[in-house]
Amino acid sequence: TSKTDRRIVAGNWKMNTTPSEGSVLAQGVIDKVAAPVGKVIFGVPAIQLVKIKQLTAAAEGYYVAAQNMHQKADGAFTGEMSAAMLADARIDYVILGHSERRQYSGEDDTLINAKIVAALDAGIIPIYCCGEKLDIRESNNQNVVVGKQIEQALSALSPKQMAKVVVAYEPVWAIGTGKTASPQQAQEMHAFIRQMISDQFGSEIANGISILYGGSVKAANAEELFGMADVDGGLVGGASLDAQAFADIIKAGQ
Ligand code: PGA
Repeated sequence: TSKTDRRIVAGNWKMNTTPSEGSVLAQGVIDKVAAPVGKVIFGVPAIQLVKIKQLTAAAEGYYVAAQNMHQKADGAFTGEMSAAMLADARIDYVILGHSERRQYSGEDDTLINAKIVAALDAGIIPIYCCGEKLDIRESNNQNVVVGKQIEQALSALSPKQMAKVVVAYEPVWAIGTGKTASPQQAQEMHAFIRQMISDQFGSEIANGISILYGGSVKAANAEELFGMADVDGGLVGGASLDAQAFADIIKAGQ
């Protein structure tokens, strides 16, 4: 698998954009980049999933992601959304384990593993987010912490399941802070993650998996980041809310 085959640029809109605004934003991006190299994913608020899916249906290379999902199949879980619901609506991806959900909703890797399995069982591709906090980076323990996250969330998967997963490395200290990991820091961690996956699942699976960088990605730094050998694209928060900025990131380095 070549790096181009692994290329993904995903936007994470978080809790931003009304349905009206979201449709204008997605259409704006599609109009600016007609045939993206690799895949482009809009990670949109739940209320917009169906609409944005319809809007991207005719746009080659464009996909839609939910930002969260419940691990159970159905039942009395007010306010939640299941994998079967996403699958029926033809949603392609689901972002799981984002640091904001770990922080504000108490999600841990055991729970996230259950969500990953539920998503895969329903045919939805999980985008698994991992990454260390600032104090961990400052004490140079990032490989220990991220290694444990990968291990706990992914190691119980079968090789067939693992081959479908997208990993997003998002150092928490770089999210929404304007502080980006240097291309070298990103590359080191991405290579470490790919090696871990290779050790457990073999090099063919490891080389096929997309590992995205997230944390203050913008048009000005995307080309350098995406140019690193093991950085296959990005998970973009703030800059994905501007059609021109996101379009420039999609085109970065191509
Ligand atoms: P940011 O967010 O690009 O605004 O730093 C990235 C993310 O949280 O996915």
